[in-house]
Amino acid sequence: MESVERKVKTFKRGLRLPTRKTATEGKAIETAPMPKQVVIPINQHFGASNQPLVKAGDYVKRGQKIADAVKPGSMTVPVHASAAGVVKKIEMHLQSNNTLGLCVFIESDPEKADSDTNFMLPLDPQAASKEECLVRIREAGMVGMGGAGFPSYIKLSPPTEKLGKIDTIIADGAECEPYLTIDEAVMTEKTHRVVQGLAISMRITGIKRAIIGIEDNKKSLIPLIEKEIRSAELGDAVTVGLCRTRYPQGGEKMLITALTGREVPSGGLPMDAGCIVQNVGSLAAIAEAFYLGKPLIDRDLTISGGACYTPKNIRVPIGTILTDLPEAFVKIDYNSLKKVLFGGPMMGVSIAVLDVPIQKNTSGVILMTATETTAEVEGPCIHCSRCIRNCPCRLSPALINIALESGDLGEAVRAGLMDCMECGSCAYMCPARIKLVQRFRVGKQLLRRRQHESGH
Ligand code: SF4
Ligand code: SF4
Repeated sequence: MESVERKVKTFKRGLRLPTRKTATEGKAIETAPMPKQVVIPINQHFGASNQPLVKAGDYVKRGQKIADAVKPGSMTVPVHASAAGVVKKIEMHLQSNNTLGLCVFIESDPEKADSDTNFMLPLDPQAASKEECLVRIREAGMVGMGGAGFPSYIKLSPPTEKLGKIDTIIADGAECEPYLTIDEAVMTEKTHRVVQGLAISMRITGIKRAIIGIEDNKKSLIPLIEKEIRSAELGDAVTVGLCRTRYPQGGEKMLITALTGREVPSGGLPMDAGCIVQNVGSLAAIAEAFYLGKPLIDRDLTISGGACYTPKNIRVPIGTILTDLPEAFVKIDYNSLKKVLFGGPMMGVSIAVLDVPIQKNTSGVILMTATETTAEVEGPCIHCSRCIRNCPCRLSPALINIALESGDLGEAVRAGLMDCMECGSCAYMCPARIKLVQRFRVGKQLLRRRQHESGH
C-alpha cells in the first residue's frame, strides 16, 4: 500500500543554507577502535543531578551503571560505563556544553574493553507492560539524542490529561544542520531499529499514528523506510512525511507545523500541539535497549569540516575524546583548525579545546578552518530587521538582545526569550554580526539559575 505523503511540506520563514554535507553524505558508519580511556560526564540529561555509583580503583564492565539519581524518583536518567576497565578518577572536566561537570575517567582494559559487558536481558516490548517498558527506557539511560538530552521516559509518559489529546508521534529525521549526515546514515543502516523504536513508542503511549519526517534531499531513503514499515506490519499507521530542505526544518516546532499544520503555542511543548517528537537515533537506541538489552553507551556522529582530513560518520563509545583515537581513524589539520564545534554550525557549541568527551547528545564534531567561520567582531545594530524577518518563531531577536544587553531579564522574557529555539538564524542573517543566539543561550541559563535559586 502506498504510504508516502508525496507532497513536500514546509513551514513559514526559514533559511536556505549551503548544506556542506558532501564530504560525509552516503558514507557508512565506521566503528572506532576502543580508546585508551573514556571520560564520562555523570549528568548528560536535562533534569536533576546524578551521583557516582563507583569510586577510583573500581573495575567496571561495559554497560554497567556508574551514576544515577541523587534523589530516587527525580527527573534523571542513569549513565553507564562505555568501556570495561578501571576507574582512575572522578573529577571535574570540560563538557560539550562548555561547562565543567563531574566525570568518571575509565582506563579501558586493552583485552576486554569491548567484550566484558553487563547488559540487561532483552525485553519483548509487546509482551511487557507499559510501566515495564518505561522502566527499561529509563534504566537504559535514554535521552533525546538530537538536542538538550531530555529524558525519553518522561517524553513517553505525558500527563494523563495531555495524553488523550496527543495523536501523533513524529520521528525527526530532517537533519537540517549543515555538515551533519549521521541521522541519514542511521536511517540507512538501522532502518529496522528506527521503525522498531517507533512501534515501541506507539505501544507505550497508545498513540496510533506516526510520521517519519525527512527533508527532500533524503528522499532516496523512502523506499527503504517504506519496506521496513511494511515488514513491521504497521500498515497505514506509519507514513513518511517529506519536508522541504530548509533550515531549521529539524526543529521540533517546525517539523510539527510542516507535517501536521499545527503550531506549538507560545510557552508550550510539542504535546500541546498533540505531538511527541523523537530523533531517529533515539528511536534506534530505544529498540536496542529492548532487543539487545544494551544501554546508551555508544554514539553515532559525523566528524567533518575543512580541518578534518578524514570526514566520516563514526560510532564511538560515549566518553571518547577525539584526540585519543588513532590518526589513521581521525586526522586533524591542526595548522588550519580555527574553530571546534560540538553539534552543527547553527545550533552547536563552540569549544576552545579538543579534549572534550563525546556525549549522548553529540550529533557531530565540526573542525572548521578560518574560511568556514564568520567574522567574530560585532558591530552596532543598524535596525535592518533581517533578524525579525528570518526568525522561524516570529520573535524580535533585536528587542530580546537590547533587553539582555541592559540586564533586564524580565523584559527579555516578555519579548519571547523562552520561546526562542536557539536555531541561530537571526545571528546568521545579522549584517552587524551581533551574537544574538549566543546571548540568548546565556540569558536562558541565567534565568534558569535564578529560578532554581528562588525555588521556582
Ligand atoms: S530568536 Fe531564537 S528562534 Fe528566532 S531566529 Fe534567533 S535563535 Fe532562532
Ligand atoms: S539583524 Fe542585526 S543589525 Fe539587523 S536589526 Fe537584527 S540585530 Fe540589528
